Amino acid sequence: MNGEDAAKVGAGVPTVSGGSGADPSESKVTPGSKTSEERRRRRREFEPTRADIHHHLVDAEGMMDRDVTPVDEWRLIEAKPGGIPLGVAETLFAQSNGYIGMRANPAEGRDSAEHGTFINGLHETWHIRHAEDAYGLAREGQSIINAPDSKAMRLYIDDEPLRLGNAEVHDYERSLDFRDGILRRRFTWRTPGGKNVRVTSERMVSFQEKHVAVMSLEVELLDSDAAVAINSQILNRQDGEDEYHDSDAAQGSELDPRRAETLHDRVLNPTFQAESGSERSTLAFRCARSKMTVACAMDHEYTVTTPDGEAPFIEIDQRTEQDSAQVLYHVNAPKGTVIRLEKFVSYHSSRHVRGEELAFRCARTLNRVRRIGLRTLQENQKEWLERFWDRSDVVIHNQPELQQAVRWNIWQLIQASARAEFQGIPAKGMTGTGYGGHYFWDTEIYVLPFLSYTSPAFARNALRFRWDMLEAAWSRADELAHDGALFPWRTINGMESSAYYAAGTAQYHIDADIVYALMKYVYATGDVDFLLREGTDLLLSTARFWMSLGFFDAERKEFQIHSVTGPDEYNTVVNNNLYTNVMAQYNLDAAADVIRQMMTERPEAFREVCHRYNLEMAEVEEWEEAAAKMYIPFNEELGIHPQDDQFLLRKRWNLDDPEAGPKRPLLLHYHPLTIYRHQIIKQADVVLALFLQGNKFTDEEKRADYDYYDPLTTGDSSLSAVVQSIVAAELGYGEKAIDFFIRGLYVDLANLHGNAADGVHVASAGGVWQSLVYGFGGFRDYGGAFTIDPRLPDEWEGLTYRVTIYGCRLRVTVRRRTVEVVVEEGDHALGPIHIAGHEVIVGAEPITIVVGERPEHEPPAESEPDEEDLARIAEQADSPSDASPPAAPKGTGMQGDPAESKAAKK
Ligand code: BGC
Repeated sequence: MNGEDAAKVGAGVPTVSGGSGADPSESKVTPGSKTSEERRRRRREFEPTRADIHHHLVDAEGMMDRDVTPVDEWRLIEAKPGGIPLGVAETLFAQSNGYIGMRANPAEGRDSAEHGTFINGLHETWHIRHAEDAYGLAREGQSIINAPDSKAMRLYIDDEPLRLGNAEVHDYERSLDFRDGILRRRFTWRTPGGKNVRVTSERMVSFQEKHVAVMSLEVELLDSDAAVAINSQILNRQDGEDEYHDSDAAQGSELDPRRAETLHDRVLNPTFQAESGSERSTLAFRCARSKMTVACAMDHEYTVTTPDGEAPFIEIDQRTEQDSAQVLYHVNAPKGTVIRLEKFVSYHSSRHVRGEELAFRCARTLNRVRRIGLRTLQENQKEWLERFWDRSDVVIHNQPELQQAVRWNIWQLIQASARAEFQGIPAKGMTGTGYGGHYFWDTEIYVLPFLSYTSPAFARNALRFRWDMLEAAWSRADELAHDGALFPWRTINGMESSAYYAAGTAQYHIDADIVYALMKYVYATGDVDFLLREGTDLLLSTARFWMSLGFFDAERKEFQIHSVTGPDEYNTVVNNNLYTNVMAQYNLDAAADVIRQMMTERPEAFREVCHRYNLEMAEVEEWEEAAAKMYIPFNEELGIHPQDDQFLLRKRWNLDDPEAGPKRPLLLHYHPLTIYRHQIIKQADVVLALFLQGNKFTDEEKRADYDYYDPLTTGDSSLSAVVQSIVAAELGYGEKAIDFFIRGLYVDLANLHGNAADGVHVASAGGVWQSLVYGFGGFRDYGGAFTIDPRLPDEWEGLTYRVTIYGCRLRVTVRRRTVEVVVEEGDHALGPIHIAGHEVIVGAEPITIVVGERPEHEPPAESEPDEEDLARIAEQADSPSDASPPAAPKGTGMQGDPAESKAAKK
């Protein structure tokens, strides 16, 4: 079924011409009005100085040492050996296809901060020992483990090992090319014996061959004869010793809850070893507790080219033990010889299948890819990536530095997701062990929008993976005495793995985040089949969950949700977190809308679902009532939405006091209770709701909320800056928008959070794409009605991005006073799309729309809090029922009428 068909018959899938789309130029603000001025004055009076650590503009670009990392729009380059701190470089140059992940450890194995080879989903479990136990706490921890490492190809010249850390090298360059995904390294090594040898290596994790990585090492004897040895290995590093392990020095060994749990007992038990021919070896293991299995096999192909064409002395040794396998090549070669060794590796893992069977699968895979050959695999990958970039590239005109960073971020998204398939997308992708390799809401809110608009098949896989988890989510809800499904806050295998419930299980919003991502996917693709099958399961299970978590008040005027934690982990277990309530409302409305549309348009599917879920329309009416009466906290005096019922009562932190002023990130320096006591925020919470559910808030509300919360936001989570950037752009706070954007863009490249060594911040990378497309690019898609209202930063000449809607690729080029749109691939026109106030149908002929001058705004100046006023506000916040309008907007579901929402709001 194509998108147009879907639009006609779809259960709840709107046509592109949804007609009721938000028109951002239409504003409900009455800026001059007395009340609004009054509120603004009051809010200003309470403006604290900024909570984030970089409350000056971040010069991330200035933090990049361009002698070490020169600018190249398509590659990340390290121009000096050791120029980038070891652990950070391992992350920045890491490669992955979403199934296999390899940190950029050098082929010679040392020096390394953290060896890392990961298979998505391959984890060990461990018993969580709660010092004080309670019912329903997570029982089993899950940690991603180090899969057998196949990267090692150690080089010896005249028995001297190459070790870059102390070697004399010239002409060094290491680069990762986003066009072919190949990590290349080349240098000339002057050995301790004074011989010059050119060493060139390549490594690629294949996108097309999910189970495969290939690498090569080429050695050229420039000026002398030499005895060359290359030892190609597979090593169980999870349980093995590494005498060169330098992790503490590189990353620090102090407490950091964001790191993975260290597993002290043996994890990988050897179950199978095999050799075949003289150059292929296989190892298989089973995890001690999780019982997962993994096999890794390597095979090789070598060529030796001598200047005189004579065959030199070559010997191959093979040794296969339980925890390691080696194939050792000895070549006594004359000057001018080039020795090239190609290595093919394959990984298979499973929850059930025995190691021997996996070894057999590895053999099959290797046989196939050996026939294809390394160079052809590389060429195929280049073509695959060409298609990816055609769909996904975002170009900032004439800004090569930013362009390089943008592409690096987009590259991280495809690396994390492409072949994840039956697994999730870990918070660090497959680039490090940070957060134990867990999947969070990061996927749904930060990564899936990108995938839905550029590689919808991968978005579908990620949603299907959640659907696959439903069984566990039903049980979890049941365990916690709820109906429906409760998805785990963090997990690998579907079970809740967050030991600290306050900043874990209590983040119930994950349910609504999944539904949000589902609906975005459906609106972008028109994939009605998915909506009707997996989608309805997700919608119904989550709607039932919200109904049992929340409750109607005694007079049935409000639906409230208590004891939850919103995205901001610095305020936990609160009542009526705004984000949670607004997202739950969306979730309930979406479920009801889909069921109603099925009733009229897909009666058979409707009957089937009703039967399977024992669903009656009276229950759907309850969802609608709960959504309509959802309690949306609002403080009349300040004209803002309190983050939760208690938020405004809390004390301020004296941010200016050099002694008492907070050290960042707060989570590493203060007991949680110290943090919870203050009006201080880890990451965008209300402000995130303003973005995700932007059609439910008036412009005036958005500005008031943003102005209030922005200075309180520490940005201690990398998930924050990108969201602040998008909302700042919408509000016309140009300088802030670009500042926050830069903080997201360089979060890893300039190691702004100091923990890039633990892995890439994938959510932030997704947020970078969203800052460009939704923020500066001004794209909005509420309820599937598409609008474009760009905000190009002053310093940029232009911005080009692409979004694929219903299978048609729309290219949007924003310039200072114009927006050009064209369908650059696809067989039908799109529209009408609201672009800067105009309604257009976009086809294969480019259309240019002139954009009016948009006023820039200044956020309010910072000022000191005043005790007296604080007390008054607290008093007012104490009586939430006076302060907030009871009826919350409806119309957020599939038809989404923003005007109605706004009107219903007040
Ligand atoms: C953030 C969460 C996020 C997690 C993983 C935490 O610091 O507060 O929102 O899901 O990191 O990225």
